[in-house]
Amino acid sequence: MTGTPQLPCIWCRATRYKPSVEHILPDALGCPPDLHLEAGVCARCNNGLGHVDQALIRQFEPVAFMAGVRRKKGRPPGIDGWASLLGRRGTAGPEMHFNAGPDDWLVDGRRLKPASAATGVLGHSFSVEDGIATVGYELAVGEDPKLARAICKLALGLLAKREGHAAALDPKYDAVRRFVREDEGDFSFLILGGDGRDEHTFWRFYRGPNGEGPVIPITLFGIEMAVDLEEGQPSLAVLEARLREQTELTWTRLPLSGVRRKRRGARGRRRWIADPAETPVSAGSDAPRA
Ligand SMILES: [Zn+2]
Repeated sequence: MTGTPQLPCIWCRATRYKPSVEHILPDALGCPPDLHLEAGVCARCNNGLGHVDQALIRQFEPVAFMAGVRRKKGRPPGIDGWASLLGRRGTAGPEMHFNAGPDDWLVDGRRLKPASAATGVLGHSFSVEDGIATVGYELAVGEDPKLARAICKLALGLLAKREGHAAALDPKYDAVRRFVREDEGDFSFLILGGDGRDEHTFWRFYRGPNGEGPVIPITLFGIEMAVDLEEGQPSLAVLEARLREQTELTWTRLPLSGVRRKRRGARGRRRWIADPAETPVSAGSDAPRA
């Protein structure tokens, strides 16, 4: 603890605390060097909310592995969080193991389950052409109920970085603080598709004609998402309405509204897949693709 008051922590608002440097995007996903908060996040929240970051890390782990992102403290990339996939550095370079079924398979003592929707793998393929084997697989996004919290956490960190510490402390973000810290309330985010570029891009925030918002666009490994940090997410609803009028990309809102609690009780697991009936989107002039 230090003797002089510090900037209130953007998560718990404490003013006397052990300081820490927050990586706005977890290091395991390749946090850019300028995406740190040097002040304003206490060590307790920084460490204590690590389990929320884990949801984001797990979700993007296979893509981060393919992209060769080094993990915390320079550890080599790997895939540990998926039941049907295993990635690690082998003797001859990166190795990825994927169990297409039908039985369990042991890889270096690790049991790999057959790929199925229950393991988060929605489809897979294997083909050999001209001596080159190609393995394809489709991963479910949003299986982990903590993913929305992780996206909100990342977004409020970005907001603190871009608009300043005081902006992030605005009471209008208290609800999202509770959501991230305590899983209280409901926040969702939009997935707008992918640009196929395997890069992170943090676009400028966009606001409504009367300064509403912001909606915070986040592109991780080429996958475009957007989130609104105000309670009720009014700006996200406006964006969603606009997207519905257009028809270029597929998109969906995660978690799917109304599905969340029901499925938690019924199956213990949840899947969110873009509903083809809800296709429509092209980002307008000030949206992320512009
Ligand atoms: Zn704190």
